[in-house]
Amino acid sequence: MPRIALPNKGRLQDDVKTLLEDAGLPIRGRSERSLTASLGGEFEAIFVRAQDIPEFVADGAADLGITGADLVAEPGRALTELLDLEFGKCRLVVAAREDSGVTSLEQLTGRPRVASVFPRLTRAFFEGRKLGVDVVPVSGAAEIAPHLGIADIVVDLTSTGSTLKVNGLREIGLVMESSARLITRDEVASKPFAEELSLALSSVLRARGQRYLMANVPKDRLDQVRERLPGLNGPTLSEVLGGGRFVAMHAVVPSASVYKTVAALKSLGCEGILVTRIERLMP
Ligand code: AMP
Repeated sequence: MPRIALPNKGRLQDDVKTLLEDAGLPIRGRSERSLTASLGGEFEAIFVRAQDIPEFVADGAADLGITGADLVAEPGRALTELLDLEFGKCRLVVAAREDSGVTSLEQLTGRPRVASVFPRLTRAFFEGRKLGVDVVPVSGAAEIAPHLGIADIVVDLTSTGSTLKVNGLREIGLVMESSARLITRDEVASKPFAEELSLALSSVLRARGQRYLMANVPKDRLDQVRERLPGLNGPTLSEVLGGGRFVAMHAVVPSASVYKTVAALKSLGCEGILVTRIERLMP
């Protein structure tokens, strides 16, 4: 059975679980402390630290893995990214003490000491900018380092910026943007199970951004209704038995604009408007 490495705790855990459930691969038989479980009877899941997942996949201990793009980039192993899962969004940034007066990378002088959980990415980033730095590798809580006097700046993950702020730090540069990724090794990427999993997950992600809309539309308003539908394709029209001047319309529309679409349909005299979630969507 193919093996997939999943985060055993932390920020990505809940979203990974929900995505797999939505894709019809619920985590079964995982007791509180167990390190493995079955995923819908199709995969064996192993639960490990998010930062170990790239190494496990690269070394062959797992065929696939789900973890943050930042964690994939740090060890620099040869891995294939199958899918951006669009959650766990964050940015790896350079931050300086607010009271240092430094507001941009250009203002850094001398040879700053940089504390980071991402020493390799940090080194590569500053080498690319031709700025000599001394990297101070830490295993967590890099944001405290400037206050302890062991570093001048940090390279750390942030999403809302609130942790940086609470710790008196100001973002002064971007190293990379990150989100959760489905990863594998090159030789596994073309195997049917990898392609099927990637397809199943992408169909769930695509469906999340869309809604299925049904409405009875006055026949003489069809052209105007079509203009208001930003949907994928269609709409599909079908006769309503005894529907008189109405036809039934079905369309897939972006969830972000469904509120406006429904209001427009209503104003055009549509009736029986119904909006539902879509479980999966394949183009
Ligand atoms: P964790 O296991 O909670 O330490 O986080 C694992 C991964 O979650 C990180 O490597 C990032 O890919 C992602 N992540 C998303 N948002 C954040 C955030 N605000 N701070 C740190 N990590 C984040």
